[in-house]
Amino acid sequence: LEPYYQFMLRVVTPGGLSTPAQWLLMDELADKYGTGSLKLTTRQAFQLHGVLKWNLKDTIQEINQALLTTLAACGDVSRNVMCNPNPYQSDIHSEVFGWSQKLTSHLAPKTPAYHEIWLDGEKVESGEEEVEPIYGKVYLPRKFKIGIAVPPMNDVDVYSQDLGYIAIVENDKLVGFNVSVGGGMGMTHGDTATYPQLAKVIGFVTPDQILDVAEKTVMIQRDYGNRSVRKNARFKYTIDRHGLDWFVDELHDRLGWELQPAREFSFDNTGDRYGWVKGVGGKWNLTLYVQGGRVVDTAGIKLRTALREIAKIHTGDFRLTANQNLVIANVTSQKKTKIAALLKEHGVEEGGNYSALRRSALSCVALPTCGLAMAEAERYLPTLIDKLEPILEEAGLRDEEINIRMTGCPNGCARPALGEIAFIGKAQGRYNIYMGAGFSGDRLSKLYRENIAEDEIIETLKPIINHFAVERDKGEHFGDFVVRTGYVKAVTDGTNFHD
Ligand code: SF4
Repeated sequence: LEPYYQFMLRVVTPGGLSTPAQWLLMDELADKYGTGSLKLTTRQAFQLHGVLKWNLKDTIQEINQALLTTLAACGDVSRNVMCNPNPYQSDIHSEVFGWSQKLTSHLAPKTPAYHEIWLDGEKVESGEEEVEPIYGKVYLPRKFKIGIAVPPMNDVDVYSQDLGYIAIVENDKLVGFNVSVGGGMGMTHGDTATYPQLAKVIGFVTPDQILDVAEKTVMIQRDYGNRSVRKNARFKYTIDRHGLDWFVDELHDRLGWELQPAREFSFDNTGDRYGWVKGVGGKWNLTLYVQGGRVVDTAGIKLRTALREIAKIHTGDFRLTANQNLVIANVTSQKKTKIAALLKEHGVEEGGNYSALRRSALSCVALPTCGLAMAEAERYLPTLIDKLEPILEEAGLRDEEINIRMTGCPNGCARPALGEIAFIGKAQGRYNIYMGAGFSGDRLSKLYRENIAEDEIIETLKPIINHFAVERDKGEHFGDFVVRTGYVKAVTDGTNFHD
């Protein structure tokens, strides 16, 4: 067999939107070309695994016919723009969601090559060299990630994004966005020149200015990003190398106007709110827990079948969340009863009965799908949680939300550096443990133990969890506790991550 005979396809769904028709198509393609399951990613996108090389073109064409695309889902361009998943929560959320769509269109590569290669578009020979208006001749040195948060929820982990927008609401109106720049999660084991970083807030813009800011920011990274050392090519390193003041000056120069001072805001969590919630127009929205973002039927829980049956009758839409969950959105009262019955019939919980630890867990795909994985993540984290749950239960912490994240390598696709407890794979069955990230996503975690296996992980965490149960301050989160009591130092800037 030639290498790379099977592929993962990532499908762009800005802000996580999928219509019922699109859901049904993705579900069908999972059987027709994939491995019989769908993965909801931590960037609110679909992944289809196991697509054979000779099926790639047909799969991409069928995805395209459903008005979805794989263009710019990967590559050194702006990736899937993330946004609070539920525009039906309020008019503000709806307006913000609209901006995520505009950002996506504005930053999409304009090349006809994708259509020519994958969709049998006719090649047009203009005789002139084609240059991307934003990406230029050489695109970006690395991928570029954008997310929009609506406080108090930081469910898109806005500080992990290369470019973040934080919605500012005054007198019930969206007046604009604070802009944050230079976040990113990836690093390389053993290379201290690489590190996760938090984005920094640099100012405020009105809604009509955000496309201009995004465009110029991308262009600055295009022109100044490191093209010699790929491990240091992300935008966070460009900013850290030149300094934040340099970047802001450069941005102002290119904009021809200046950002206003940042406005007040605060975040209080990064998670999803499970269960049914009534939104605008009296319609209902259900946030469903999806373990590891994997939509699959198991012995007792026929999640994939349930969602397929729901998609056949649903008149609202589906929203993929940044926490790998799913919102069944914009549901009428009449359909709510039917949807609830379908979920019950297929053994799917409406969200409430899992431990808070399990509901707060994120994991990347890792083995066997990701070629970069050094250890398990999606397939193993539920087992590890099985072993941690009794410890938390005994300590009276079953309902305590602790952000727990696991990745198979330090690239950080499940944003482990923002986990209050995080595991990053080192080798089969062995992980580094990190702790101490802020519950609202505003502080990084710190290495606590290196290269340990399951028994040692449990032995390490059990006394800390018990200590937390007994000596935490009122309302104190786990990440804050382990910093306050000295297990790890606070990391508020990635340049100190390895100190
Ligand atoms: Fe991403 Fe690494 Fe996980 Fe692969 S193993 S999905 S590259 S974090």
